[in-house]
Amino acid sequence: MRSTRLATNAGGVLPALCVPLCVSLLSAASSPLFAQAKAQTSPAAKATPVESAMDKLAAHPTVAAAFKSLKSDNAWTLDQQASICQIPAPPFKEQARAAEYAKRFRELGVQNVRIDKEGNVIGEIRGVRPGPTLLLAGHLDTVFPEGTDVRVKRKGTKLTAPGIGDDCRGLAVVLTVARQVITQKIPFSGKLIVVGNVGEEGPGNLRGTRAIFAGPMRDSINMFISVDGTGFGVTNGGVGSNRYRVHYKGPGGHSYGAFGMPNPMHAMGRAIAKIADLEATTTPKVTFNVGIVSGGTSVNSIPFEAIMEVDLRSETAAALAEIDARLQKALRQAVVEEKARWPKSTAALSVVIDTIGLRPAGSTPDSAFIVRASLAAARTMNVYAPLTISSTDANVPMNLKIPAVTLDGGGVGRGAHSLDESYDDRDDGYKGPQWVLLVVMGLLGAK
Ligand SMILES: [Zn+2]
Repeated sequence: MRSTRLATNAGGVLPALCVPLCVSLLSAASSPLFAQAKAQTSPAAKATPVESAMDKLAAHPTVAAAFKSLKSDNAWTLDQQASICQIPAPPFKEQARAAEYAKRFRELGVQNVRIDKEGNVIGEIRGVRPGPTLLLAGHLDTVFPEGTDVRVKRKGTKLTAPGIGDDCRGLAVVLTVARQVITQKIPFSGKLIVVGNVGEEGPGNLRGTRAIFAGPMRDSINMFISVDGTGFGVTNGGVGSNRYRVHYKGPGGHSYGAFGMPNPMHAMGRAIAKIADLEATTTPKVTFNVGIVSGGTSVNSIPFEAIMEVDLRSETAAALAEIDARLQKALRQAVVEEKARWPKSTAALSVVIDTIGLRPAGSTPDSAFIVRASLAAARTMNVYAPLTISSTDANVPMNLKIPAVTLDGGGVGRGAHSLDESYDDRDDGYKGPQWVLLVVMGLLGAK
């Protein structure tokens, strides 16, 4: 899911690649970096070349027909969203939903539909001329365990069920966009790869997207968009995280009889004190947290094991690596100090560090073409799309410096990751898929 909403900083990198549309857009691009963002708040401002091109693209007969159909056949999109949501997809158990999603891709005429070793559903829609490859994904997994009641309750325009917004909305948007691209025969360049990926949520640790970018497809993907969540945000900053379960271990013994040996719980206390005193910067933001502690057998026993779970996060890979190095040092120094406290003891004391989560940090600069195109398309749609920082599937390509964003899927979502999660389509939910379609076709140089 997406979460944090923050303004991002300007970068200074030019668009990484130029597709036919992009070439014409960039030839006259001389306006300030944030012109498109300003234009969203001041309607009278003159359109930038990217914005003008998006306006023009929206008026292209095939795109206009797609827009019309997305609106008039909005019920189809909502039916996809609800029916996919009723197939349980707990972490690491996305198989049934994946099989159904693959079936729907095939029925739409998506080519070369397959399920890779990791469990990702992957299909292709080829353009009418050579060009770049854009991967458009929604995530199959939810945070909910097996046995959760995932039946969808409908009341007017509101759907309520666990996972209905995060990310059944994204899955439905990818399907409905693919359907329009195929049925309207939009003449774009290159290749659109459509994906339902596994493992986005916490325990999945981005395993689906990671597998895609670790495999043979990696070098052919020029741009990445994940549709995740509701509303109209553009996530171009990816918060990275490193998570560990740390065990301090020793022989343990009677608290009175065996007194005088290193105590794993005391060692862990020393480590926690060091973590609490770590210095963290605000730019880039760096955070640390000991979230869970456990261990011990009784109040009158020296524990044989003490366990804690630690979470580190940052917006930049360098800052995350830096705080991680200091954490590792603190965890080991705690063992040295606890042993030094009892120099006459020969009892062992050790620390074992298990990695339970690694999400790479990364970002796509505000000035990148994929970001500017996303904002320009929002302006064309007459919706306000803020730039945000979050932790999503886009973290993986961002970390590899592949232009990537996560786009919201429209509508209004509430209570993501809770059992009473809801999605309200209101009267303009269709604008979500319209926006995503316009961005994707703009980036693939439809003309
Ligand atoms: Zn999500």
